Amino acid sequence: MSALMQTYARLPVTFSHGEGVYVYDTEGRRYLDGISGIAVNGLGHAHPAVTAAIREQADKLVHTSNLYRIEAQEQLGTVLTQLAGMDNCFFGNSGAEANEAAIKLARLYGHNRGIKKPAIVVLEGAFHGRTLATLSATGNRKIQAGFEPLVTGFVRAPCNDIAALQQIAANNPDVVAFLAEPIQGEGGVKLLDPEYLQAARLICDEQGWLLMLDEVQTGNGRTGTYFAYQGLDLVPDVVTTAKGLGNGVPIGTCLARGAAAQVLGAGQHGSTFGGNPLVCSVGLAVVNAIVQDQLCANAIAMGQLITETLLEKLGSAKQFKEIRGQGLMLGIELHKNCGELVKHGLDAGLLINVTDGKTVRLLPPLVINEQEARELANGVADLILNFD
Ligand SMILES: *Cc1c(COP(=O)(O)O)cnc(C)c1O
Repeated sequence: MSALMQTYARLPVTFSHGEGVYVYDTEGRRYLDGISGIAVNGLGHAHPAVTAAIREQADKLVHTSNLYRIEAQEQLGTVLTQLAGMDNCFFGNSGAEANEAAIKLARLYGHNRGIKKPAIVVLEGAFHGRTLATLSATGNRKIQAGFEPLVTGFVRAPCNDIAALQQIAANNPDVVAFLAEPIQGEGGVKLLDPEYLQAARLICDEQGWLLMLDEVQTGNGRTGTYFAYQGLDLVPDVVTTAKGLGNGVPIGTCLARGAAAQVLGAGQHGSTFGGNPLVCSVGLAVVNAIVQDQLCANAIAMGQLITETLLEKLGSAKQFKEIRGQGLMLGIELHKNCGELVKHGLDAGLLINVTDGKTVRLLPPLVINEQEARELANGVADLILNFD
């Protein structure tokens, strides 16, 4: 019997090391990483800047707690708020914690305005995490089942339906915020229409709601801009991110702007590990590499190359439905369930993922080059062509 709770259906492979977009298993087999530890290793594996940051900081100081000032946390906060167009931020250790901070912030914002039972609009198909509040915000019954009673204070809306959002605004005086992923990742790489998000921004302004974007997966260069909303001609009031921020060290953050930045005060939120010297030094190295190495531009170019290569090979295949996505966040939807492709990929030396049953999800490292991008696209196309 395993000493581990059976919360994951793990594949029968163990990796021992990696370099760039490749990882190696304990038998010495090489795999092209098309999933980056679920959008985490944007800089790939064993990136020298990340390794150096971990080494140098580990040599000096790993943790002191938030009872004291933390230089690296202040520096990373400055860099991120500037990149995001936000005023301040709070550091936690994961995506779910970043969203918890946003949810608490929204509730307190509501209470400060005299709303006793503040509610947050969330979308069908959304994924916001596995803690009680974030799984309640998540729009997937499988993730919620068995964990009732759920946290109340969420109002569910259909995606891309502006009229439905207007309806909620007209009928629900307790709403204080709208929370959404610009592209639903776990939900199957589904993009929100830019017009929908722009309409949501207007409705938030009219109603005094906070526009809160969950960029845990889409952030840190993944979609071709540092944050996905930067390609959408709007600025949210709150944005959360995590996955790609630490390239593997646990870090997440909730950034806020304007009135939202003034809500949480001393003693109202906290995290023992949150934003410690180690993770923030690594976060700084990661953000600097994304910016200096122009990885957003690379994400766009390589995303296009992968998409074109896939379309060329799959365009007329009967099992292929469509490719969705942006930058290096891609979903290839088939006409039938294709969970088995993950195992076929492993056999072929490719790490891929399937979400929402029928969608192959690709989240390769942002450092992927042309040759590697072609290798990934051709490999994935062959997997799909051989699957009927
Ligand atoms: C992964 C993810 C989360 C949860 O992040 P954890 O670090 O696993 O807690 C939240 N929101 C989105 C959009 C995600 O993709």
